[in-house]
Amino acid sequence: MDYSVLHRSSSSFARVSSILTQHGSILTPAFVPVCTTGSPKCVPMSAVDDFDLVFSNTYHLLVHPGANTVAELGGIHSFTSRSKPFITDSGGFQVFSLKYTGGRDELKGRTNKPKQKNMVSKIDEDGVHFRSYRDGRQLFLSPEASISAQHQIGADLIVAFDELPPYGLTQKRLQRSFDRTHRWMKRSLDFHNSSAHTSTQRLYGIVHGETNMGLRLESLRFLLQHNFPGIAIGGSVGQTRKEMYSLICGMRSLLPSDRPVHLLGIGDLQSIVPLIQCGVDSLDSTYPTKAGRHGTALLTPSVDWLISHSLENSLVSATLDEPAAGRLNELHLVLSKAEHQQSAEPIDETCTCPVCLRYSRGYLHHLLKMHESAGQSLVTLHNLHIMRNTMETIRHLIRDNKL
Ligand SMILES: [Zn+2]
Repeated sequence: MDYSVLHRSSSSFARVSSILTQHGSILTPAFVPVCTTGSPKCVPMSAVDDFDLVFSNTYHLLVHPGANTVAELGGIHSFTSRSKPFITDSGGFQVFSLKYTGGRDELKGRTNKPKQKNMVSKIDEDGVHFRSYRDGRQLFLSPEASISAQHQIGADLIVAFDELPPYGLTQKRLQRSFDRTHRWMKRSLDFHNSSAHTSTQRLYGIVHGETNMGLRLESLRFLLQHNFPGIAIGGSVGQTRKEMYSLICGMRSLLPSDRPVHLLGIGDLQSIVPLIQCGVDSLDSTYPTKAGRHGTALLTPSVDWLISHSLENSLVSATLDEPAAGRLNELHLVLSKAEHQQSAEPIDETCTCPVCLRYSRGYLHHLLKMHESAGQSLVTLHNLHIMRNTMETIRHLIRDNKL
């Protein structure tokens, strides 16, 4: 489970590195597509073959088919027929989303059953008791139960169990959640270290503290002091780009040089370069697949565009007060717009993906308008291709010290 830095940029904290796992090495900076239940949405697992790392959710795999079944079928690689690395989360994020949003944000569209209230029945120092959104079955997650499930699932990179507090807590409640999260992460680490999985699965601790810089640094120091083999940045990093960049920038001098850093849940084209320049090695996000399902195609950012959206430029940009992710800019093409109806052009004439080589904007517009699932699948395939190629360009720019 080696980690090696191949190049450090002379113009920022960006670095090109390699995380060696039993299922091959992960070249970073890496964009990590989300394959929630063991597949990306709308496209088969083979659509992410070109990505070194993909992200699956322990919570969803626990609900169905269960960690035991994944283990019986040979673990997540064998189960999904993917030979390359996986990362799984702890399940904490989804469970606490159930608690604080009734599952609206995380679980929308995953079941035809009417919305179930009070799905989290009990949270105490031991862990969280909750009901399956799928069939109402009682489930339990604790640091030990989460790590044990992640051992069974068998991803190469796994994540410590944490409490996800809602945005905007009072200082007192935030501190209470923060302290519990650290106790839970230490229990996760102790459980993992006493298992036979330390040589095959790298455990990431999560930096918490929401938008409080003092707590973020304290959390990071805690993880380094306990020697977590990987560092993930989680929780709320703010509601605007300004908050997000200043928070992650503020941590960069303490981010470790000898182990990987992952940012949980953020990875749109506009944010990627500044975040990588703060020292982030990998980022998972549903961004390209979700955009694809909504008929929004990504366009290739040029080298000049990437450089002009560097951290330095972003910190003085007019877009700083925008939401931290999700805004459509000049790199997004909304294919359902009437202007594409008679277009014979491909989505992106510089793109070499099978979709752009074969289909026109007009045809994709038609499929989307007719609600043909092929339309969503094709745009998703193209978007994944753009993310993969963009990361390759970014790695070249870092090696050339241009980012
Ligand atoms: Zn394409």
